[in-house]
Amino acid sequence: MIVFNIPPYTGNEITYIAQAVEKQKICGDGEFTRKCNAWIEEKTGTGKCLLTTSCTHATELAALLAQVGPGDEIIMPAYTFVSTADAFVLRGATPVFVDIRPDTMNIDETLIEAAVTEKTKAIVPVHYAGVACEMDTIMDIAKRHNLFVIEDAAQGIMSTYKGKALGTIGDFGAFSFHETKNYSMGEGGALLIRDEKYVEEAEILREKGTNRSKFFRGQIDKYTWVNYGSSYLPSDMNAAYLWAQLEMADAINEHRLSLWNQYYEELTPLQDAGILELPHIPQGCVHNAHMFYIKAKDLEERTELLKFLKDNGILAVFHYIPLHTAPAGLKYGRFHGEDVYTTKESERLCRLPMFYKLTDEEVSYITGKVKEFYRV
Ligand SMILES: *Cc1c(COP(=O)(O)O)cnc(C)c1O
Repeated sequence: MIVFNIPPYTGNEITYIAQAVEKQKICGDGEFTRKCNAWIEEKTGTGKCLLTTSCTHATELAALLAQVGPGDEIIMPAYTFVSTADAFVLRGATPVFVDIRPDTMNIDETLIEAAVTEKTKAIVPVHYAGVACEMDTIMDIAKRHNLFVIEDAAQGIMSTYKGKALGTIGDFGAFSFHETKNYSMGEGGALLIRDEKYVEEAEILREKGTNRSKFFRGQIDKYTWVNYGSSYLPSDMNAAYLWAQLEMADAINEHRLSLWNQYYEELTPLQDAGILELPHIPQGCVHNAHMFYIKAKDLEERTELLKFLKDNGILAVFHYIPLHTAPAGLKYGRFHGEDVYTTKESERLCRLPMFYKLTDEEVSYITGKVKEFYRV
């Protein structure tokens, strides 16, 4: 049986968790959290990185920092995970969904401007599969209309757009370290802050509305309640798990890319024959092999394909019921313009197994079975 995902594990996780325990320092913002933050800052070039309890929470922090409130509209794709919308719906804002591009499954940047109203507060691009949205266009629209850009880069760590790390281009970026992502800490994430001016406020919001971060740095001699806030900092034990992977980030990335390239090469003849479609990586985008998907002809064919793979011991999956068709999406959001691709393309998409421990032999077995299904 080839499962769909195995959480990344390099071997040093247990050692580092033991170190955190031995130090009797297992709450937030310990040594491992500091190491992870510094590593991400160095690797991405972001102004500031704050490890969080999830990407959902990092996005909530961004919504708070952007002062999103009731009546505000937030432009985003409907083809995404629920958290992208949740963080803003929690603040009383309305998600305004626009259609995606069929080639990357990312928000169609040419449709964003028509969705802007005087209530629009932010654009939230989601870098699907770790492949960048067309950020130059998005940043230009945001600048002209004075909007925040909050990147859902949950899948985008180690990816770049025209040389810039995903998550660092907009005002704020959010990474996920959930067990399904390229690097994990079980549950966790990070908020990336481009401009220095938001850092202090972010630290306060993340630490229950206190200036405890300043206190730890010795900048003040006691800490106090200075604003509203919540608790968005992960345990240092979780950060220890993540640190073992960040140390090996390049090796993990290279292995995933090599599996991705193998899938791509072995399935290219089927794309050339017009049987299925493979992912598209636009010029200027460097991706991180977060995901390998294929697109079948339609929903019916995909259902048969998933069943065939399952019968052959391969767990492939589909995902994202478009948010505007979900009960909460109908209640809280609206779709701007026509849903030409969101639903149609989501029904064709099939994700093949992709994880660090996957082997070349397993990829060959999977592509062999896909070929068998299509009788080529
Ligand atoms: C995984 C994911 C999230 C949520 O990440 P958590 O860390 O589980 O909160 C949000 N958006 C996208 C696009 C994701 O893939």
